[in-house]
Amino acid sequence: LEPLYQFMVRVRAAGGITTPEQWLVLDELSDKNGNGTMKLTTRQSFQFHGILKRSLKPTIKAVNETLLTTIATCGDVNRNVMCSPNPYQSPIHEEVYEMAGHLSEAFLPKTTAYHEIWLDKEKVAGSPDVEPLYHKHYLPRKFKIAIAIPPNNDIDVFANDIGLIAIKENNELKGFNVCVGGGLGSTFGDKTTYPRLADVIGFVKKDKIIEVAETIIAIQRDFGNREDRKNARFKYTIDTRGLDWLVNELHTRLGWEIESPRSFKFDTNGDKYGWVKGINGKWFYTLFVEHGRIKDEEGYQLKKALREIAKILKGDFRLTGNQNLIIANVEGKDKKSIEAILVDSGVFNNPKLTGLRKNSMACVALNTCGLAFAEAERYLPSLIDKLDEIMRKNGLEEDEINIRMTGCPNNCARSSLGEIGFVGRAIGRYNLYMGASHNGDRLNTLYKEMLSEDAILQELEPIIASYAKERKKEEHFGDFVIRKKIVEATDRPLKVLS
Ligand code: SF4
Repeated sequence: LEPLYQFMVRVRAAGGITTPEQWLVLDELSDKNGNGTMKLTTRQSFQFHGILKRSLKPTIKAVNETLLTTIATCGDVNRNVMCSPNPYQSPIHEEVYEMAGHLSEAFLPKTTAYHEIWLDKEKVAGSPDVEPLYHKHYLPRKFKIAIAIPPNNDIDVFANDIGLIAIKENNELKGFNVCVGGGLGSTFGDKTTYPRLADVIGFVKKDKIIEVAETIIAIQRDFGNREDRKNARFKYTIDTRGLDWLVNELHTRLGWEIESPRSFKFDTNGDKYGWVKGINGKWFYTLFVEHGRIKDEEGYQLKKALREIAKILKGDFRLTGNQNLIIANVEGKDKKSIEAILVDSGVFNNPKLTGLRKNSMACVALNTCGLAFAEAERYLPSLIDKLDEIMRKNGLEEDEINIRMTGCPNNCARSSLGEIGFVGRAIGRYNLYMGASHNGDRLNTLYKEMLSEDAILQELEPIIASYAKERKKEEHFGDFVIRKKIVEATDRPLKVLS
């Protein structure tokens, strides 16, 4: 008798956009083949959990029939390309969204192997036997690309192998600052692994960006460490050979040189909630989804509400990089009926939505992720309840502090960029990190290890109280703990080449 294997299926949606029809199919699949919930990930994808082996192929087939796909959502290839989720915020957002689609498409696997295995398609005559970019052995490790549009760093651009920062001048998209070598994962006890922010190496005009990205991916393909997977990400290739080597190699392969980086400034890496009107005259509602879990509970019928909304929505749904959801392209006349569904379901203007909770992220962790040492998604909400009591006592309930928790140092919820970050060490025990910036351009630093919940609260209570009393005007929590020397600033600061 075979063990009852179950799988996670991740769905790729370019820039995190799905139609209402696609939403309804995903919703139904999660009930029929999964555990009855959906997870919105920190990379603008969907995850189904609890898919039994026998349901794996039908699920992947059904996803593809809705014109979404699971191809290259895992494995040693370029993953989905993230970008700011509302293309109607400005004409530049629209252009950047299109660019994300082009990049995503350009680096998809080109053989028909996926279609033959999962969709029972015949091999198409003339399709390549070997991947033109990835060659026979693919990349040494996964590869991630994201595009941010200042002043919002809502996709954490510096956490990516290639981060692109949109540069606009005279209200026109000129091109992108190119950042390389970001990645937050590490392994406990292995000092050769560490979180690292991407370095800003230069500026590239928009019509050259695919050529530059492809060349960088090829450099990692050719020079990445293929002997030790723990040291195989692009960040280690750069640190082993040097940033100058990388830039020289890039210039040699391109046959031309990229320009010096242009100036940019980020304010925040969080989402803004509620309604905004797009440049197309339609409305966008950003809905807080606690740690991206779409589910129904007593008094909180989020999954049902979104199903009802999908039945009447003439626009679409957009996933943010912070595990939230935008109900997008809503006609003005339809706003009321959408709001009414959210109110009836107990998810509109949630009174528990404090500044801390609005800025929280957590990975799946236990009991679903096989790599987890501790809880994250199922535990952080109750820890925030307790921290919110402390925040309230100090008049800080509206204060926006990024708080992030992961069940292991793989860092899927980007704990290293939390002003308060937790990484699970064992059941009920966490390392506490502090001092990341509020806009994602500084990593946090380890404060204490192996803390229980009581110890976490004991450590944070006096720090929060002194933050309330002694912070400077508009000083963020991450900056405060460094100024007060509660933690040292990271020894891996953001590097911008001149
Ligand atoms: Fe699993 Fe670790 Fe990723 Fe959390 S951070 S989902 S525990 S691999």
